Amino acid sequence: MSFAYAQSPLNRRADLRGNVTELAIHHGLPTSKCVHVAGDAVRMAQGSLDVAMPAATKEIVFLGLDQQGHAWFATQDNPGDSHVSLRTLMIEGSLPAAELSILAQARSLILWHAAHGFCAQCGKPTSMQDAGYRRQCQGCGASHFPRTDPVVIMAVCKDNKTLLGRQAAWPEGMYSTLAGFVEPGETLEQAAHREVMEEVGVRLSAVSYVASQPWPFPASLMVGLIAEAETETLTIDTSEIEAAQWFEAAELKQMLDHTHPKGWHCSRPDAIAWHLAQAALKKISGSFASPQ
Ligand SMILES: [Zn+2]
Repeated sequence: MSFAYAQSPLNRRADLRGNVTELAIHHGLPTSKCVHVAGDAVRMAQGSLDVAMPAATKEIVFLGLDQQGHAWFATQDNPGDSHVSLRTLMIEGSLPAAELSILAQARSLILWHAAHGFCAQCGKPTSMQDAGYRRQCQGCGASHFPRTDPVVIMAVCKDNKTLLGRQAAWPEGMYSTLAGFVEPGETLEQAAHREVMEEVGVRLSAVSYVASQPWPFPASLMVGLIAEAETETLTIDTSEIEAAQWFEAAELKQMLDHTHPKGWHCSRPDAIAWHLAQAALKKISGSFASPQ
């Protein structure tokens, strides 16, 4: 499967993060690259990523080495006219998939640093350590690590139908797989059961893993699942979603192909939701074709 943000070519080389001497050498090499992140946007130069290395005094995060052995870094930047949002870059397809994936890592890390300048335990300032993979409190010495927030996203199937919903803020006519954050102390399977029950009142039986996608807004990991429903009646929680309904295979195919007569459609192919809807179509079509 090939979706946005999931095709990083970098070897993260965690072993180098504490090696100040080696990282300083990479910093000085003309082949090293640094992306400049401001909020959810990145600095561009003439249609390409601006990868100029900043001054040696600027705080930078080490992202890893590419297949040529060239180092990639990221740094925080002030917003400006030459910045373009990651969402726009994804929609326009203006960067290679590999670079977009590097930006997902950069954006999540830079945002975490920007929001964690002070210790959550004692309130004193923290400083960047391990080339950007840890912050240490200058008061109590506590270490703080970048986080990734798992989100379960699931295609729910029953017989020859798949369940999709929509949120009011989405583009008109777009339906997608249900999703929600995994809560503390919960397994992925439990989160899937709970979210589907909360949002549409449907009870699941089997839940299985399909694939995952980093989603850097700000630091999520979309865990794609396919689930079997035990029940079919929908009780929609309108505080979470605007609508939900079961779609049979023929209709789901039209939505994936953008040929539905009502203009209903699935999310963009960059998103794991689209791939899950495709997996669901395969599953329910199989169910359709099975001998009576
Ligand atoms: Zn502290």
